[in-house]
Amino acid sequence: MGGLMLMEPFTQRLHLNGRGFNRRRIDVLQVNMGKYCNQACIHCHVEAGPTRKEMMSRETVGAVLRFLERADIPTLDITGGAPELNDNFQYLVEAAVALKRHVMDRCNLTVIFEPGKEYLPEFFKRHEVELVCSLPCYTEENVDSQRGKGTFDLSIRALEILNKLGYGQPTSDLTLNLVYNPVGPHLPPLQGNLEQDYKRILKEQFGVVFNHLYCLTNMPITRYETYLKLRGEYERYMELLETSFNSATVEQVMCRALISVGWEGTIYDCDFNQMLQLPVRDAEGKALSISSVSVDQLQNRSITVGNHCYACTAGSGSSCGGVLVT
Ligand code: SF4
Ligand code: SF4
Repeated sequence: MGGLMLMEPFTQRLHLNGRGFNRRRIDVLQVNMGKYCNQACIHCHVEAGPTRKEMMSRETVGAVLRFLERADIPTLDITGGAPELNDNFQYLVEAAVALKRHVMDRCNLTVIFEPGKEYLPEFFKRHEVELVCSLPCYTEENVDSQRGKGTFDLSIRALEILNKLGYGQPTSDLTLNLVYNPVGPHLPPLQGNLEQDYKRILKEQFGVVFNHLYCLTNMPITRYETYLKLRGEYERYMELLETSFNSATVEQVMCRALISVGWEGTIYDCDFNQMLQLPVRDAEGKALSISSVSVDQLQNRSITVGNHCYACTAGSGSSCGGVLVT
């Protein structure tokens, strides 16, 4: 077998395409409430799990809300870990809804069966929270191998409960989107085709319905990077991402219109830069914090990129909202 190609740095690739890489208007404030999670999935770029203690404090949630109140940002996108396991989750959702913001929750589905979390489905409905739920396959074998034994069954039960409340139903405004990510080190298949397969199979086998499927490319950092390296697949995967670079995605990558806040209040260009400890810095090199930053300091500012960004620009592109170009 021949050697693997050397990687062309992502920054150079952008330069060759003659484009700058700045944030535009911020449409989404993404808040990571911490690393604590009831699952410990192998692809998790957050390296979340039941033993993690990092959690956003009430004080930092207060700073997020003060920032949101001053900023004309329409959507609050809440993620984690399992954000619902943070004691301040309800407070954040209720206050953001009171500010008339659209609230999205990135939910792993199984969290609603955790002790004391049974209230979540009704709570989501009452506040019209848009749900973005991970379900990396429609087969039990693939889901359980990536997310832990028994996860598939619990996920289907959770979807049944949400469907009963109106989530994902064609006549309802309660949005339920699912997220697919590959089990192996390859790019996701075409989102439109896979969505049709998901819809048909989940409906036929379980009577489950949902709105849209988002296909995400696995980010080769943190836990997934280690996983790939242990299996000797890291370099091949990076090469796949690089050779699949699609310049049409560059204008659409999510960091162009999003800002991400870490559990401790630091500002990042995206959740991935957050995990790589690449904060947004001021002119003096100090990391910006949600407690003191203004929107003007963040809009039309350059974005920190690295070779991990090839995961966002490969093929049809990848973001928290699925593919970037069709
Ligand atoms: S459910 Fe989500 S946050 Fe939790 S370990 Fe899995 S991928 Fe990470
Ligand atoms: S990883 Fe993706 S979203 Fe983050 S800075 Fe790179 S291109 Fe933007």
